[in-house]
Amino acid sequence: RPIIVWFRDDLRLSDHPALHEAAASGASVVGLYVHDEESRALMPPAVRRLGGATRWWLAQSLRALGKSLTMAGGSLVLRTGPAASVIATVAREIGARAVFWNDIAHAPHQAVAREVEAALASDSIDSQIFRGDLLVDPKAIRNKNNRALRVFTPFWRRVQGLGDPPKPLPAPKRLTSIGGIASDAVDDWGLEPTRPDWAGGLRETWTPGEAAAQARLKRFLDEGISGYADDRDRPDRDGTSRLSPHLRFGEISPRQVWHAARFAAAEDSRLAGDIDKFLSELGWREFCRHLLFDVPDMADRNLQEQFDAFPWKRNALALEAWQRGLTGYPIVDAGMRELWHSGVMHNRVRMVAASFLVKHLLIDWRTGEQWFWDTLVDADAGSNPANWQWVAGCGADAAPYFRVFNPVLQGEKFDPDGGYVRRWVPELAQLPDDLIHQPWTATPIELASAAVELGKTYPLPIVDHKQGRERALAAYAKIRRKD
Ligand code: FAD
Repeated sequence: RPIIVWFRDDLRLSDHPALHEAAASGASVVGLYVHDEESRALMPPAVRRLGGATRWWLAQSLRALGKSLTMAGGSLVLRTGPAASVIATVAREIGARAVFWNDIAHAPHQAVAREVEAALASDSIDSQIFRGDLLVDPKAIRNKNNRALRVFTPFWRRVQGLGDPPKPLPAPKRLTSIGGIASDAVDDWGLEPTRPDWAGGLRETWTPGEAAAQARLKRFLDEGISGYADDRDRPDRDGTSRLSPHLRFGEISPRQVWHAARFAAAEDSRLAGDIDKFLSELGWREFCRHLLFDVPDMADRNLQEQFDAFPWKRNALALEAWQRGLTGYPIVDAGMRELWHSGVMHNRVRMVAASFLVKHLLIDWRTGEQWFWDTLVDADAGSNPANWQWVAGCGADAAPYFRVFNPVLQGEKFDPDGGYVRRWVPELAQLPDDLIHQPWTATPIELASAAVELGKTYPLPIVDHKQGRERALAAYAKIRRKD
């Protein structure tokens, strides 16, 4: 009798414990993905509905997974509806003896999985759950009060102290499957935009799927890792792995990345420093996920409660200027336009753009988090809110609120020749390097010779940096603890 493998955020064949075990049993294997937008609302906090960019990614990734499973002799069945009833129905239809899946260490997913388990048990069908997409089980790293660690460095030391994670599992060589099972088509789910079709930039930028994820990792370790520790902060350089959406959808596992990076370091000891830095970034992903395990509603709740009283402002016009990349600060605008076009933004610029929203504009970090959730292809239930809270000062191991990024200095430091701004804000492209991050300081002649008309071809700053900073500090003073 066949075994069903329920795929979720693990859209790959290699290092997939549930698939590996199902294949090793010798049974026929049926892959199943459930497009479930119903179970989620039943229990708070719910599994978040995917944003526009991740819906696009999911469609491509499912097509890639379907092809790989078919090539390996298996199949991928797509169904819609509440996971528990859908999975139990498919299991009955095909006479499955068991359903296997990998855990997602987040309470709403685990609640849905418990419903699946119960529905299967009532039909006497086995469930087997395997370790999910983390380097370390969140229950293995706790403080004295049995909570997730709130400071990154000791957390990462503890992870490293556990030694290498287990070696990744190979993809099953050959699967056997059964035919004739009804399946939706990806197109039926309306995951991709049609009118307007805003996904052109995503298509240009990305190839979702496991093969592309592996190729990207290999290319990065062969060609990109040297100099990573310095280059990773430079948005004008192609200095990072760009693996985040692949990791988000589990097209590659963190332990595959870990072991490949360690292997590269062993091959060439000159890379050791860069590789340690790269792995510590993977550590941040892990840190965010462990926090999420502890605080399932991290996208709604300040990790530091004193921020519950923060006097956020509503300002629809300023919010729209930020979203559209029209704040008048070139580095912020370049980042927001990169995001809209390609579904990602360089990490350094994410920090600057997020800081601008919460500090210069005093807009609640949750509003920005939601925008990123909708527009990022790597929008992650752990990393997105954890990083927003980090920037806003209310998170774990957070940047102190009073440290307000100066968008001009950040631009000049990390995009010194203005290459990043020129790429994403072409109307400023002809300004010289020393003016490109602060066009409002240019003389009328300098502006005219660069064909810039401030207020017409490019906006004046929507808020003055100094005033914005002072207003942010005054707001913060209202909630600062008196200790
Ligand atoms: P690399 O530098 O190559 O890093 C390798 C991997 O490490 C990344 O793919 C990612 O999985 C992980 N990583 C790196 N930096 C971080 C970090 N600060 N926090 C958590 N994991 C990290 N990352 C997401 O994956 N999803 C998000 O939704 C997300 N939202 C963010 C929101 C804000 C406001 C900020 C400041 C950062 C956010 N990040 C998020 C973290 C970071 O910006 C991206 O992971 C990174 O830019 C991805 O590029 P890369 O894959 O080339 O990274």
